[in-house]
Amino acid sequence: MTFLLGKRESVGQFGASIQESEELVSALENSVMTIVHQIVNVLNWGLYMILVVGGAGYIGSHLVKELVEKEEVIVLDNLSTGYRRLVDEQAVFVQGDLGNKADLEPIFEKYPIQAVMHFAANSLVGESVVNPLKYYQNNVAATLTLLETMLKYNVKNFIFSSTAATYGIPNVELITEDYPTNPINPYGRSKLMIEQILADFASAYGLNYVVLRYFNAAGAYESGEIGEDHNPETHLIPIVLQHLLGQRDKISVFGTDYNTPDGTCIRDYIHVTDLAKAHILALEALLTGKKKTAIYNLGNGLGYSVKKVIETCEKVTGRKAVIEYTDRRPGDPARLVASSQKIYEELGWKAEYSLEQIIESAWKWHQWKGTKWSSCP
Ligand code: UDP
Repeated sequence: MTFLLGKRESVGQFGASIQESEELVSALENSVMTIVHQIVNVLNWGLYMILVVGGAGYIGSHLVKELVEKEEVIVLDNLSTGYRRLVDEQAVFVQGDLGNKADLEPIFEKYPIQAVMHFAANSLVGESVVNPLKYYQNNVAATLTLLETMLKYNVKNFIFSSTAATYGIPNVELITEDYPTNPINPYGRSKLMIEQILADFASAYGLNYVVLRYFNAAGAYESGEIGEDHNPETHLIPIVLQHLLGQRDKISVFGTDYNTPDGTCIRDYIHVTDLAKAHILALEALLTGKKKTAIYNLGNGLGYSVKKVIETCEKVTGRKAVIEYTDRRPGDPARLVASSQKIYEELGWKAEYSLEQIIESAWKWHQWKGTKWSSCP
């Protein structure tokens, strides 16, 4: 495990004795910081220390960008799918694994963490079907280790990234949180298992938690310098933009015979910064005691078809796509659109970015990534 202090990182190439004294100063600095944080937190001056697990990933890194403006942030990430350079430099970065107590415990020993936000998971539906062990190990077993460690250190506030995949194939216009969950793949089941574990831990151990069920996260930070980079990429918007940048020959549209107005699937696309803001409101609700437990959908309540998304990408970029219409992709429901009324009423959150703005931000990111990404650490 490696501790890297963002802004406070030391150059450390000046020989053993200088290095030793730097380490001593750094250790002292850390101890003083820890004491200061403890005092501040005891006095509740509003400065909290938050552990963001998976903060180097797509959604986690956007949350960290917003959160560092308000609180002290420690990021734990094993960099299996995330990138160090996506993590805001104001956060403390620790490379390690959430399923490994030897990585977790030093963090809880060292920092007075008040809440944990958990973004680290495998999230490819197809992969979860062929390799469920990976999903139950990484998404369920590792999360249990994290929860166990939190309880050991008496940290009782938890924000969990869940998914619309917990609903399976719903048959309603707008999905509310009380719609029955019935996931149809190991990925969705792994997320639902943790939701159930959280409910049991709340009753038994007094754990406070907010579960956020994301619909289709998309878009990128407004600077265009952090965004989505999956390998392999399976999501519609990045695939269309990669094609329009000349990185793919064509786009495949999976199915045109769905029971929707244009025959293609309808999804609820939500900007990643809107998601990040919802996390911050959820965190505040836990830390102020406004909420003990809650489950919220995060979407914008507007559905867009695959054809509409492609048309909007063409409009935003001024480029024409080559489209191939193919068979349905197994497991795709015709329509998945969230009602986010509950989080609006309880926490005052609603999505602000339109589909066009989502695509504009993603386009900026994909253009930047196409030219500069490879030269970044
Ligand atoms: N889709 C498509 N072609 C692609 C990728 C996705 O037609 O190359 C469709 C997919 O079948 C679904 C919608 O786009 O109906 C959104 O898929 P995505 O994988 O982005 O998100 P999901 O809703 O599956 O989480």
